[in-house]
Amino acid sequence: MDLIFKIISQLHLKVILKLNKMFRSTSFNLEKMEEAIEQIFIAKGYKTKRRQRIKGKSGTINEIDVLAIKNRKKIAIECKNHSTPIGQNLIRDFYTKIKEIRIPNGFFASNSDFTSGAIKFAQQNNITLWSREEIIEEYWLVNVGRTNVGKEHNLKNALPLNIDYEKAIKLNLENYDKIKINSSNLFYKPYYVVEYVFKDKYHDPTREIHTFYDEGLVLIDGLDGRILNKTDTMGRLKQIISNSDEEVDTKVYDELLNYNKVENYRINSDFFNVNVMEPQVQNRFIKKLATDYITEKNTKEINYIPKSSETIFDGKSVTYKPKSKNIMLKKVNFLYVPKWKIEFQSIDNYYTREIYGHTGTKIEDTIEYCPYHFQLGGLRLVTKATHAVCEVCGQALCNEHITQCPLCGKWLCMECGVKCSNCNRIYCVEHINNLCSISQKEICDECTSICPICGNMYSNKFEVECSECGSIVCKNCSQSKGMIRRKQFCINCLSDL
Ligand SMILES: [Zn+2]
Ligand SMILES: [Zn+2]
Ligand SMILES: [Zn+2]
Ligand SMILES: [Zn+2]
Ligand SMILES: [Zn+2]
Ligand SMILES: [Zn+2]
Repeated sequence: MDLIFKIISQLHLKVILKLNKMFRSTSFNLEKMEEAIEQIFIAKGYKTKRRQRIKGKSGTINEIDVLAIKNRKKIAIECKNHSTPIGQNLIRDFYTKIKEIRIPNGFFASNSDFTSGAIKFAQQNNITLWSREEIIEEYWLVNVGRTNVGKEHNLKNALPLNIDYEKAIKLNLENYDKIKINSSNLFYKPYYVVEYVFKDKYHDPTREIHTFYDEGLVLIDGLDGRILNKTDTMGRLKQIISNSDEEVDTKVYDELLNYNKVENYRINSDFFNVNVMEPQVQNRFIKKLATDYITEKNTKEINYIPKSSETIFDGKSVTYKPKSKNIMLKKVNFLYVPKWKIEFQSIDNYYTREIYGHTGTKIEDTIEYCPYHFQLGGLRLVTKATHAVCEVCGQALCNEHITQCPLCGKWLCMECGVKCSNCNRIYCVEHINNLCSISQKEICDECTSICPICGNMYSNKFEVECSECGSIVCKNCSQSKGMIRRKQFCINCLSDL
């Protein structure tokens, strides 16, 4: 092993260990998490401030856990240390807060996972979610993952990469050329899939026989030994009690079910970083983790009625716990799962996209949907795909909320453009210079007339044709006259009459 590689790999190990220690420690607190988040942003060249109190549009004070600033770019980061998955309501509250203080980029970091509802909401409103997994990745990137563009990597036991770089960065936006790719990383993340069978017979104190059978897979994160199975050890689907409509997101789980498709291949990265994250949990430890999980999952209370008793109310119970000799680990499969992480920049707006490289399943894509289509209060979200980015503020919006300046073709959002009060088309601020002398509202060149009498510019909807001389004048320079059939006259003709 060459020395450099050895150093990097040791450093890698150290970083992961440090993080795992942080996440596992019973004294884990928000303070430590905020510290780690700050370190990530500082390493990326930001200046950070903690617990910032900022006055909002409506005058209320909003507290931001971590505020990261680089040049003009501002990011508000919310940090949560919850034992249960983060639901949509918390993301909504955060969204309302950052809108209130006009910070376009929000990050929500949490020690726990997010529900599918939370993910949908965040994606639509350009809030980047950082679960523990993303925090580890980011921490790894700034500490270990120095640029390795152009290097060739040999991968063993990796899911084939079906989504190439071109596909990963593809944007279906009219002016995608206005979008910069800030960073593109391809992660290869280590996982274990353990195949098992468990069989046992048990005699309760009344000599009755109970048979047990279980088979399946135990899915384990190779970085920290976390069990990823959808069901917990009691066999229940992982759901949050408080918000039963929202299920915990299980995209990694679905990805791992492809474990039998692994290949060995080479990958050359000309445009992106390849980050191969080596497993940090030893093989024998994986076996122990799997056995513990299966044991706990199959531990049951057995109720029986002692022979001597007369009624069922004399029933007793005994705890049955599987013995490890009855658990057969048929195979321990190791695999790398490819995952893309792309950061797009569109002026002051930053968007994150995460896609699994094998199946193409999107984990998050904050540029995909227009933020103006959600119903507050409802759990169901209406989505509308983005069409273009505003070339002034950078927001990605759908065709209802973005339009092209009729003069220069620039894409503009409703807030950045100026509407012609006559034709209602949206123009760039610099391409609409006229003010109607009658309505005092903006009008475009096409809708502007100049009055031959007063010389003022006015909207052509106020044009009046003089029935005497035929000249077109503004409303202010005309008058109607006549008893039965009222006719319009310009003020010049009127004085001659
Ligand atoms: Zn705009
Ligand atoms: Zn829209
Ligand atoms: Zn224009
Ligand atoms: Zn107009
Ligand atoms: Zn006039
Ligand atoms: Zn006239």
